[in-house]
Amino acid sequence: MDYRQIPAMFLADAPGLDFLNSVATPVDVEVDWISDGEGLLAWLEQAGLVPRATLATMRSQATPSELDAVAARARELREWFREFVQTRKGRPLTASDLRDLEPLNQLFERDEQYGEIVANVTQGGSIFELRANRRWKSPESLLMPIVEVLARLVCDEDFAQVKACEGPRCTLLFADHTRGHARRWCSMAICGNRAKVAAHRKRLKEREA
Ligand SMILES: [Zn+2]
Repeated sequence: MDYRQIPAMFLADAPGLDFLNSVATPVDVEVDWISDGEGLLAWLEQAGLVPRATLATMRSQATPSELDAVAARARELREWFREFVQTRKGRPLTASDLRDLEPLNQLFERDEQYGEIVANVTQGGSIFELRANRRWKSPESLLMPIVEVLARLVCDEDFAQVKACEGPRCTLLFADHTRGHARRWCSMAICGNRAKVAAHRKRLKEREA
């Protein structure tokens, strides 16, 4: 199904997992929101990972085939990282997992970030704030905020609470931040209700039998 017909899903409670969820089957057909360059730009905008002005500049300065190539690299990165998460979710990460994160560190070496002190306009707290900016020199630099959220996931998230939705055909992943760690579904609206309806039908059938 064409990704333009349906907004991307941000229900993982962890941006790194939202990126993995950028391909999913929300109803019955698979949707890949980053299946081409234009899709990648739209997804990055919806995720709030790249300033809108930067996306507009990229759109006007890079060729569609350059952007498609970056989207292809993003999909490669996504499927490689999915494997990393799928094999480790449900238990805390260990130092030996670092070996398999080398591709992220290699990408980081090419990043061009710079700091900037800006006045904090919100009331209270400190007057100044340190902001991280990036030189968006090439279309490839669009991968950097993605690399960053994947790195944040392994650095900040408790992998013991990284879960896959229990929906039988659902591929969505999420971080369970609920008290008691009882979250089972990507969302109540998608798989939670489906499971409720299925359980209800089962009870009715049992009653009839
Ligand atoms: Zn689900």
